[in-house]
This record gives sequence, structure tokens and C-alpha cells, in this order.
Amino acid sequence: MIKKLRIMTPGPTPVPVDVLLEGARETLYHRNPEFLKMLETASNDLKSVFRTNGHVFILASSGTGSMEAAVANTVNPGDKVIAVVGGKFGERWADLCKAYNANMIELDIEWGDYLRPEQIEKLLKENPDVKVVFTTLSETSTGVVNDIKSIAEIVKKTNALLVVDAVSGILAEPLETDLWGVDIVVAGSQKAFMMPPGLAFVAVSGEKAWKRIEEVKSPRYYFDLRAYKKSYTDTPYTGAVNLVYQLNKGLEMIKSEGIENVWARHAIFGNAVRKGVKALGLELFAKKPGNVVTAVKVPEGIDGSKFLKFCREEYGMVFSEGQSHLKGKIFRVSNLGYVDKLDIISAIATIEMAMNKFGKKVPMGAGVKAAEEVLLGDERS
Ligand SMILES: *Cc1c(COP(=O)(O)O)cnc(C)c1O
Repeated sequence: MIKKLRIMTPGPTPVPVDVLLEGARETLYHRNPEFLKMLETASNDLKSVFRTNGHVFILASSGTGSMEAAVANTVNPGDKVIAVVGGKFGERWADLCKAYNANMIELDIEWGDYLRPEQIEKLLKENPDVKVVFTTLSETSTGVVNDIKSIAEIVKKTNALLVVDAVSGILAEPLETDLWGVDIVVAGSQKAFMMPPGLAFVAVSGEKAWKRIEEVKSPRYYFDLRAYKKSYTDTPYTGAVNLVYQLNKGLEMIKSEGIENVWARHAIFGNAVRKGVKALGLELFAKKPGNVVTAVKVPEGIDGSKFLKFCREEYGMVFSEGQSHLKGKIFRVSNLGYVDKLDIISAIATIEMAMNKFGKKVPMGAGVKAAEEVLLGDERS
């Protein structure tokens, strides 16, 4: 049986052939003027993606490297910080803050729930000495998207910096770094950028962030942003040459679609997935689902891991498992990056067929119909 691979996972995401082929081009010396020109182009285009006039640095690492860079450059040992934890990736902020010996206040939110801006307001009032607030735009483990605009409004009135993990959220959800007053935004290549894993991005928005980065005493070397700033738009160490070719191709595609249209595409597709699974009588896990990834509760009596294995082996359709305590309890359908309307339909059709296979008699065609209606009308929720 022929089977095509469809990775509807929130990273890595599918990569267009044009981007893949860019990676096959001859590797240039990383100080070659032609390559330096490419780095400059990428750095400039990234500014429009991050909506900032500040610096956007390109690091050779996975997304977690950009998170570590943000912590290493803003946290002194013993500094009071807030880490918002509402899922696996918020937990990563907390782990990093611990690793850098911060005096951390962990703001725990039930997984699946979202951060209320008032919670941050209250904590900052009680702790005026907080130096940094670490939070997440799209919590990929639960499908929740947080209201960064309102949070930024609160944090920017204080001395604290706001650092946002937008690894899965950027390009899928609106994020206005400069306009909203977010100080540092981090991201990674294998999500909405339509390219393979391997690059991470750190956007530093303005003076408040730079002042902090300059004065922090925390030990750092590879991720010391001062070195990246000094050689900007060049890179202090060997650039990931072929990945930068691919980045430029991905950014070119994003630019020609237009950032607002990329946001709209994710909004429509996210809506189609949600309507599709709900029409099957399945429940969403997130209290405030975003347009990045949809977490669906595994119905009673079905083994989540076997269900995903069946989708993968029978249809080549790859969804993500639940992480940590959600393993087996949810599965996650991503519409992130290089995904089209018929990928969405295929995903919903796969769920319909697999649910019936596993004894959950969902009405065949009902999810597909609901998704088609959204897609036909380009409806956002
Ligand atoms: C994917 C992801 C990361 C980074 O993970 P890496 O495996 O290091 O690339 C960080 N935060 C969020 C929200 C993510 O979705």
C-alpha cells in the first residue's frame, strides 16, 4: 500500500520541496561575502516576522537554546524571577531558571488553563523586586494561547523584563513585539518557518532589555548575546550555512504570502480542526485553544498510544502524543507551517476512520463536513 507521510505535529513541521532543495546547495565558507549577505537578508526579514526594529539573532541550536540564551542573559544567581508554568514548555522556563540559580516564583496554572493577566499583576505588586517574567505565547503541550498583549501592558509599567517563548506561536498567532512592549522573544526554525530543525532565534526589542543583558553577571559563553550583537548581522561562530539558505527560502515564501495572511491562515485552519473534531463529539483539552495545535481528549476506553500508532502506520498521518501526565490522555493535531486545506481534511478524515476502527462510533464524514464548511468560507472562529 502506498502511504504518504503527513506530519501534523507542532514541530518538526512539513518542509516544502523548494526549502529542502535549498539545503542541498554547495556549502559556502561562512565568511564568504555571499554568505554574509544572506545572513543580513535573513536578519532583516526576521525583524518583520518578529515585528521589531531591534536585533533578531540567529543561533545554531534547537528552540531550547534560544530559551537558555534568554535566561543566561537576563538572570543573575539569586535574582527574583517569575516563571509561568501551564504545561511542558512553561516547565522548561522553570527548569532553566533553576539551572541558573534564580530565586524563582513559579506561577502554576492547571495544564489546559491559561494565564490571567491579573495573576501577573498581583504577583508583581507583591514582588516589586522581580527582574524578569518568563512566559509562553503558545503552550504547545496543551494547545493554549496566552494573551501576551495584556500581560505586556502590565509588565512594561514595572522594572521587570517580559520574555516570551513564541517558539510554536510565532507566525501562527499575532505577536507585536515592539508595539506591545515585549522585551525578548524566542523562537525556533522547525515550527511555522517551514524549515527543518536546527536554528533558534532571539529577538531583543529595546534599551530596557539591553541594559539588563549588559549588567548581568551570569556565566555564559556560546549564548552570550553581547557577542552576537557585536558581530551583527554576521555571526561570531560558524553559521549553520545550509540552514540559513533554507531560512531565506522559507522567509521569502512567508513574505510573499504576507505576515497577516499567515496569521489568518493559521486562524482558519485552527478553526477547521476544532470544528471538525467537535463535530465528531470529541472534546478539546484547552480552555482557550489557539491556532497552533489542537489538543483533543482521547475518549474513554481508547489507548491513545495505539490510536496514534494506527494513524501513523495505516495512513502515514503523524499526530503528537500528550506529554508528561497527559500521555495517552490527549493527542495533538497541529496546523502549523506548511500545511494546506487538504492536509486539514486528511487529518480529520484520519481521526474519523481511526476512531471507528477503535470502537468509538463517530459519524463518518461529519468532521470532514464541518471542516470543509470552515475552509470553504475561510472562516475564523
Ligand atoms: C518546540 C518548542 C520549544 C523548543 O523545543 P526544541 O525541541 O528545543 O526545539 C520551546 N517552546 C515551545 C512552546 C515549543 O513548542
